[in-house]
Amino acid sequence: MSHHDQRENTGWNFENTYITLPEKLFTMQKPIPVHSPQLVMFNEPLAKSLGLNPESLGSKDVAVFAGNELPDGSSPLAQAYAGHQFGHFTMLGDGRAVLLGEQITPGDERFDIQLKGSGRTPYSRGGDGRASLGPMLREYIISEAMHALRIPTTRSLAVVTTGETVLRETQLPGAILTRVAASHLRVGTFQYVANWGTEADMESLVDYTLHRHFPKVNHGENRYLALFREVVKQQASVIAKWQLVGFVHGVMNTDNMTISGETIDYGPCAFMDHYDENTVFSSIDREGRYSYGNQPGIGQWNLARFAETLLPFINSDEEKAIESAKEVLTEYAKWYHENWLNGMRAKLGLFDEGEDDQSLIEELLQLMKQFEADFTNTFRSLTFEDFEDNNLFHSSDFKYWYKKWNQRKEREEQSKSDSVELMKNHNPAVIPRNHQVEEALQAAVERNDYSVMERLLDVLSNPYAHTKEQEQYTTVPKRNRPYITYCGT
Ligand code: AMP
Ligand code: MG
Repeated sequence: MSHHDQRENTGWNFENTYITLPEKLFTMQKPIPVHSPQLVMFNEPLAKSLGLNPESLGSKDVAVFAGNELPDGSSPLAQAYAGHQFGHFTMLGDGRAVLLGEQITPGDERFDIQLKGSGRTPYSRGGDGRASLGPMLREYIISEAMHALRIPTTRSLAVVTTGETVLRETQLPGAILTRVAASHLRVGTFQYVANWGTEADMESLVDYTLHRHFPKVNHGENRYLALFREVVKQQASVIAKWQLVGFVHGVMNTDNMTISGETIDYGPCAFMDHYDENTVFSSIDREGRYSYGNQPGIGQWNLARFAETLLPFINSDEEKAIESAKEVLTEYAKWYHENWLNGMRAKLGLFDEGEDDQSLIEELLQLMKQFEADFTNTFRSLTFEDFEDNNLFHSSDFKYWYKKWNQRKEREEQSKSDSVELMKNHNPAVIPRNHQVEEALQAAVERNDYSVMERLLDVLSNPYAHTKEQEQYTTVPKRNRPYITYCGT
């Protein structure tokens, strides 16, 4: 097969619109080649949905995922953006990533194809531009698990090892992740332009965003407020989904909040085991700014930063612009709460809306906290009415709650089995539990054994299946030390 044929067969179909934006927004930047790339993870279903052809995958494609070769039609660049990191505003940008281009799928959808860990860029500051294998595999596992949990997220297409080491606390094997996203536009992209760009730059960015993500509201004078409203709506939805599965993002800086509504940046994130709204995993989040219970409020704070960048477009009268933006931010709280409450109802097998539902839910959460009950497993036990060995279920408080829950269910029109089906469909059997993710990463990184990770990915790929095989993944280790995640990835 000639070089040319193989290229064509792979199925890259790039159309790069980001380069039409003002120059300030990016720097043309090729990935820096690596020593000896090896493909260790490849997401075949995702590849197919992108229009790639996994059957013709060859060494040339591995070279593409390593940044050693460029796919036809790509136009690599590093994006500029700013962000509030733990509340402090700074200039950032892709310090270790390049956007290869935008892949147009057979279904005519557009996805950014980005290499993460692809070498230094003008935005690298003190960093080496590289990533180590463990964290890239971790992002692969968690992002794919989130997708299977039906939570909007960036996806992971491939991981290659580079044959080079990166220096963190110790020397670690280097790796590159191929990330797929509806786009990499962030709140921080807008903050960057608002601070260092002209009004014309901002107008280009806003029009680009409307055209790419919100064509339905891209008309009329009010389209800028409509843009804001759509972004707010999607964040209210995605953050509620995090809360409903116990996902703690860990680093909700404004540069890590997408405009597309996809969850992005799987650094110090982790899933909560026993229920506690103060749960924090990240070693650097000492004040608990990004704790589980704070996520909805931080979402609103970040969206207020987004609103500030749009004010001149929302209304030329600043006071009126602020008033309109505030109204939408107030609605965020309402939308978030509705999403959360309806999601919780489904987790309890409730179809319609009862007045006391919120207190019923809050009482359960309070009991879960008091008895240190595992969040995921408690809902799973409720689904299957399997109330063995858990202190919570033997308490008289729970028995009282259980009676109230049953009385509430009896007021429903739907049958008991419909209610169980609803619960099975909203209470995952499995989540990426920290100790299982660690085991999978250890096997892969230390022993080059990817079988543990493959099995875990398989179980996580269908979290609402409640199969026999998934059962062994529901065990929770006795807690002897808190789980801690690190940012130095
Ligand atoms: P994050 O905490 O992953 O959102 O990253 C924050 C910023 O640090 C982004 O601008 C990243 O591109 C940059 N960054 C993170 N790690 C590195 C690295 N090893 N080299 C260069 N830049 C990095
Ligand atoms: Mg980031």
